[in-house]
Amino acid sequence: LRRNPGEIEFHQAVREVLESIGPVLGKHPEYAEQKIIERIFEPERQIIFRVPWEDDRGEVHINRGFRVEFNSALGPYKGGLRFHPSVYLGIIKFLAVEQIFKNSLTGLPIGAGKGGADFDPKGRSDREIMRFCQSFMTELYRHLGEYTDVPAGDIGVGGREIGYLFGQYKRITNRYESGVITGKGLTYGGAQVRTEATGYGCAFFVEEMLKARGTSFDGKRVVVSGSGNVAVYAIEKVRELGGVVVACSDSSGYVVDEKGIDLDLLKQVKEVERRRLSDYAERRGAEATYVPGRSVWEVPCEVALPSATQNEITGKDAEALVRGGCIAVGEGANMPTMPEGIRVFQEAGVAFGPGKAANAGGVATSALEMQQNASRDSWTFEFSERRLQEIMSDIHARCLETADAYGMPGDYVAGANIDGFRRVADAMLALGLI
Ligand code: NDP
Repeated sequence: LRRNPGEIEFHQAVREVLESIGPVLGKHPEYAEQKIIERIFEPERQIIFRVPWEDDRGEVHINRGFRVEFNSALGPYKGGLRFHPSVYLGIIKFLAVEQIFKNSLTGLPIGAGKGGADFDPKGRSDREIMRFCQSFMTELYRHLGEYTDVPAGDIGVGGREIGYLFGQYKRITNRYESGVITGKGLTYGGAQVRTEATGYGCAFFVEEMLKARGTSFDGKRVVVSGSGNVAVYAIEKVRELGGVVVACSDSSGYVVDEKGIDLDLLKQVKEVERRRLSDYAERRGAEATYVPGRSVWEVPCEVALPSATQNEITGKDAEALVRGGCIAVGEGANMPTMPEGIRVFQEAGVAFGPGKAANAGGVATSALEMQQNASRDSWTFEFSERRLQEIMSDIHARCLETADAYGMPGDYVAGANIDGFRRVADAMLALGLI
């Protein structure tokens, strides 16, 4: 705490891992002897830089850019970039810590990093977004490389931004280094299913949790928070698996659509026109109700998929969800449930899939994109989706087996943290004191 003052989200993410791994440290004294805990929570490198850019009126703006290269024991640093006004070092570090254990849990050869800027893309023109991305990459490029550090998207960074970032990297370095960034468009080295991967993966993970309890998505009432990349594709896959998504949200409010969210309209409004959820509700007419300024977690459901941002489910929200009949929660977002909320869910016997496990499909498919770039190959949608499904099912099984092995049956939080920790810790031991 003393070394990282004020970084509350970082403290929260570290504490959650520490609370799970006590039994591992008891069984393996070598981790304490080699100070693995102290090492693992100290980033290998932190980069903070100025991002100057000019808006359409010629006014100059200065933002702050970040890249925290946290751990490269398993592979090149890997993790997304977030553009949101709330970004500061504590948020980037919490995201990078989550990434260490998540990436390890996928079983793929990827280290962990995260980055972004306190830039607010809302209301900015396409040209402004391009100029910002170009300025951001003009500093960041020197720290990247397919064997060094490979960013991707996150909040505020989607296909359009990845294109501008990759374009600037290519221009500055004079190298067509496809594997330097993931989430690319399909015309220039992107992989099938990457856009859909986090949302689809979350739905696959929750389907496994439901299966383990003898049930499925079929006919279930589902609420998804957010209406961005993760939320849209979680909604799509839940529908395919037979669930009915009755509500979703954005930072201004939520929409309830009892017959099920109209996915085509949602994609048109959010992805094509880049408008707000209130516009969706307006166009949907009498079918939908828009509720401004309130939390979507007041809508009763059997399955909740928080897919917007960190700390969006409080203890009280969790209690309301349990009262409303919620039996499963899959975190599409990173750390969306506050510690009190997790306790409420676990005490009520709700199947709780933490983000590290439930949203790992995004980074796993990014690793598949890197594989395809390295071999100059491209796989079909069907093959890629099958790989994603296998990876999610494998992560689910490993969480359960690990939780069982350490005497905490059904505890996905412990399973994910312990399994993720052990692989990185063992690699760090093997690599010596570096
Ligand atoms: P997007 O930018 O595409 O969408 C974010 C959505 O969440 C928007 O609907 C946004 O609403 C809402 N939101 C963002 N910040 C807040 C806030 N402070 N309060 C309320 N609502 C908010 O991002 P993604 O869908 O990519 O990311 C969503 C979550 O999933 C994040 O936690 C991210 O870290 C995590 N994640 C993403 C992965 C990916 O592959 N994209 C991979 C793994 C995890 P509004 O438009 O009003 O801001």
